[in-house]
Amino acid sequence: EIQKEKHNYESDVARMRKIVINRQALDSLYSHKEIFLRELISNANDALEKLRLISLTDKSVWDGSEPLNITVKAIKDEDGKGGRLIISDTGIGMSPEELTKNLGTLAKSGTSEFLARAESDEGGAANGNLIGAFGLGFYSSFLVADSVYVSSVTPASAKNPEPVQHVFSSSSEDSSFEIFPDPRGNTIGRHGTEITLHLKEDSLEYLENPELMNLVNKHSSFSTSFPIYLYTQQEMQVPDDEEPVSEAEETSPAEALDELEKEETPKDEDEAIVEDVEEAPEEEQSPAPPKLKTILVDQWQHLNSQPPIWQRDPKEVTDEEYKLFYASAFKDDTEPLAWHHFSGDSGSGVSFKSIIYLPGKFEDSFWQQPLTYRSKDIRLMVKRVFITSDFGDEALPKWASWVKVVVDAEDLPLNVSRETLQSTRFLKQLKQIIIKHVIQLLSKFSEEDGEKFEQFVKTYNTVIKLGAVEDTKNREKLIGLARFNTNQRNFTTLDQYLENRKQGQKQIFYLAEMGKDPEDIAKSVFVEKLHARGYEVLLLGEPMEEIFVQNIRQWKNVRFQDVAKVGLKFGDEDLDDEEEKELLKEQTEKYRPLLDYLKKQAGTVARDVVISNRLVTSPCAMVADNHGYTANVQRMMSASNA
Ligand code: ADP
Ligand code: MG
Repeated sequence: EIQKEKHNYESDVARMRKIVINRQALDSLYSHKEIFLRELISNANDALEKLRLISLTDKSVWDGSEPLNITVKAIKDEDGKGGRLIISDTGIGMSPEELTKNLGTLAKSGTSEFLARAESDEGGAANGNLIGAFGLGFYSSFLVADSVYVSSVTPASAKNPEPVQHVFSSSSEDSSFEIFPDPRGNTIGRHGTEITLHLKEDSLEYLENPELMNLVNKHSSFSTSFPIYLYTQQEMQVPDDEEPVSEAEETSPAEALDELEKEETPKDEDEAIVEDVEEAPEEEQSPAPPKLKTILVDQWQHLNSQPPIWQRDPKEVTDEEYKLFYASAFKDDTEPLAWHHFSGDSGSGVSFKSIIYLPGKFEDSFWQQPLTYRSKDIRLMVKRVFITSDFGDEALPKWASWVKVVVDAEDLPLNVSRETLQSTRFLKQLKQIIIKHVIQLLSKFSEEDGEKFEQFVKTYNTVIKLGAVEDTKNREKLIGLARFNTNQRNFTTLDQYLENRKQGQKQIFYLAEMGKDPEDIAKSVFVEKLHARGYEVLLLGEPMEEIFVQNIRQWKNVRFQDVAKVGLKFGDEDLDDEEEKELLKEQTEKYRPLLDYLKKQAGTVARDVVISNRLVTSPCAMVADNHGYTANVQRMMSASNA
């Protein structure tokens, strides 16, 4: 008898499964249920990549002789009422402990955010792309299946000379899962995993060939370099006396368990009688039209016979294919803003093919990540074999860490370890090449009109400013791309600002009021006089913008000047003329007692109280010392010290 080990799910998994299983609460989740296949194929691909990677240094795991592939099999129940989908791979496999740990716990960052959002929004309307954004991974199986069996092989080792196969089983009703030795013995082979989904009644469309084929083509066909084979059964009408062609004698772990239980009870008498009837010789009959019956015919297909998308000629890849590849490779259902597909040479003799994508949006968490954050979205392959996403010291700086890249190098030795890879010049050069292309893509949008430009500014303006501060090497180019709102217009570049300067103007005017909209900053007393005189003032409402001007200090030798600080020079001499200075002096004398009184009252709060020609309608203003911080920065500094 099979000993089943019962385990409870970790609490987050239980919550996740509940959301998936009660998907009625989440309409959008429901409409996304097809992503289960993408997730399972992506796991199969990962498992195969792991096996191949390990085999580079340990030939006992895989010596290159057995095929590495993924199969998707759809098997209909004989009664035609249901069926199961089996996704198998010949990858690294999982031991019973790994089955428990990998499928019974959630290790993914961002999961708790997903849970909180999915649970808080009951209608699900706002959940739009939650699934795509977070990727439910293995648990998406429960979008389409009532019960799931994962059979996986623990590869042979010195301790266990024979490979052993274990099952993880779970159904949507239980809040627990079971682990037990596979009653069928070792059916998978030396390594690999087989996932059997017993489909829900409302998901039986996934047993049909066109549905499955389209799904794999759409989400997965070019995101893996391993072949994907599809097995389906097609209904066919044949004369009644023809032998069935289907070889679908596939036993699932569930059936094997049933068999075991049956064997323990004596065989049913009825069954023997039924067999007798079937074996009885057929009666001779006068020729009549042959009766037809429906049989199931096997069909095998190799789905992704094309080379992976990055290896293809860019002229032959459609936009649709680029978008689908992006969504499946980087698990982002938001359309990318742009991409660039090219062949390159690192400069140290390594040739490679690459696709660089600019995402259509950033993850919410992007700005919460520290400056030391490094993305894991550069997939480096050598001759199509995935090597690493960890570039160590050569990772992109934070400002560009959102870029999604696949790189496939031809001329690196296949057995490079991450350490030796990092010491080659290749990564350093690759990093510069990627950044160069990112800036080129961004520049292209800078010249676009309409919707794309709006999206570009909305998504990228702030990281471009971060880049200008962070990336001294590319600073000039990035400053050139940064856009600002002013009292006169939206999205001005600094070059456009300089062109629009008034005669004699020797400063770039700005006012920073963190967290405010440009329209509100424009109402500030500091802006009004300049506005009245026809000067353009940058209105900075984002913390990053203030950090930008503090760091950059000048553009094309024109210094930034905070209009709320001392040092402001108008430059239009006709207005700054002697007459006005005379008036200022006169008035200062006249109001001396008032100024002295106010200064005394202000105590240490203000360094000085003066008559000013800065204001038009407002009676007074607080002005920061040119060397001091503005109120905004002061607030930020004290917040970051806290
Ligand atoms: P993720 O793929 O993001 O880690 P999943 O929920 O998709 O999350 O999978 C959880 C873990 O289960 C994987 O990280 C992997 O360790 C393991 N796993 C899932 N499917 C397979 C498989 N086919 N072969 C080997 N391991 C697998
Ligand atoms: Mg996964």
